[in-house]
Amino acid sequence: MTHTTIPAYAAPSPAAPLERITVPRRSPGEHDVLIEIKYSGICHSDIHTARGEWGERAFPVVPGHEIAGVVTAVGSGVTRHTVGDRVGVGCFVDSCRTCENCLAGLQQYCTGELGMVGTYAATGRDGELTYGGYSTHIVVDENYVLRIPDGIPLDAAAPLLCAGITVYSPLAHWQAGPGKKVAVVGLGGLGHLGVKIARAMGAEVTVLSQSLRKKDDGLRLGAEHYHATSDPATFEALAGTFDLIINTVSADLDLDAYLGLLRSGGTLVQLGAPEKPLPVSPFALITHRRSFAGSMIGGIPETQEMLDFCAEHGLAADIELIRADQINEAYERVLASDVRYRFVIDAATI
Ligand code: NAP
Ligand code: ZN
Ligand code: ZN
Repeated sequence: MTHTTIPAYAAPSPAAPLERITVPRRSPGEHDVLIEIKYSGICHSDIHTARGEWGERAFPVVPGHEIAGVVTAVGSGVTRHTVGDRVGVGCFVDSCRTCENCLAGLQQYCTGELGMVGTYAATGRDGELTYGGYSTHIVVDENYVLRIPDGIPLDAAAPLLCAGITVYSPLAHWQAGPGKKVAVVGLGGLGHLGVKIARAMGAEVTVLSQSLRKKDDGLRLGAEHYHATSDPATFEALAGTFDLIINTVSADLDLDAYLGLLRSGGTLVQLGAPEKPLPVSPFALITHRRSFAGSMIGGIPETQEMLDFCAEHGLAADIELIRADQINEAYERVLASDVRYRFVIDAATI
């Protein structure tokens, strides 16, 4: 297999800041597309991975799974995309394609031997390490590449590829819509898109944030109510209120307190992925037939559905565009909950 070498930003080890390196990309095969990356979002998962919080990975790690760009070459067998197409790549670039979940379009839950091949820090079917979107080009099998509708600017589209689908999938699955009260916990990258999408689906949306610092933004994004979780009165006032709670918080939370905000039969969906296990009291669940559930990104068909939904409703991420040499600073700001509401790297600066 032939390769070209491209520039990228990588974490050389869990303790080190990201730096510019070069990485190999395979030349496009028969079913591959070559994408010139224009923009790459910074997801909190990039930080968890780059800092080794999710277990051992092969370093260097080139993060980035919110990729938006333009197709610049296609293999001879490619039918889904052509040169010049505006496209996106999310959290995975391959899967077994034959297991029950892959056949159902739920590639993120692939149970085959290959499993879901992450866009970075994973091993592909060719045995090679994958490198993500903090780079100038990527080569991906056409079946794992999404179309970005014309109405969405590429920079604001990038975060939809992970943050957008991660909130869209549970909102759709648990039927957020007219007559449903939905709470979004944490107003960060995932959370701000959760508010926009839940509102567009017709639900009555409440933001539960650590403070009232971002209240104006939350209401502008589409929430009807906004409460500070640092105030114990919030948990008394809202007890038994919600049909669905989407927890996007990247840190440990007192889940029992949030389960208490569900109506009988309601569901708390865990999206945030902190390092350590989270305790849940059986009584918080059994006394009101409540569910505690999880959800991970979304499959290829649903990701395309989400992009089309966002175009139809005029939705995209609120972003702060940065240069590649600002990535380390951006990581610190994400960790300080100081992101409004997604950092996106201008790949031209790599
Ligand atoms: P983010 O932009 O950093 O947003 C997380 C938000 O959580 C913050 O803005 C903050 O909101 C709140 N928060 C942070 N620390 C907190 C603390 N100590 N206590 C209470 N609230 C706190 O991160 P993100 O990119 O949205 O990702 C969020 C989490 O989802 C991460 O763990 C990430 O790895 C995970 N994730 C999961 C999936 C999946 O498929 N399930 C996909 C993508 C990401 P306020 O300031 O409003 O309180
Ligand atoms: Zn992500
Ligand atoms: Zn599979």
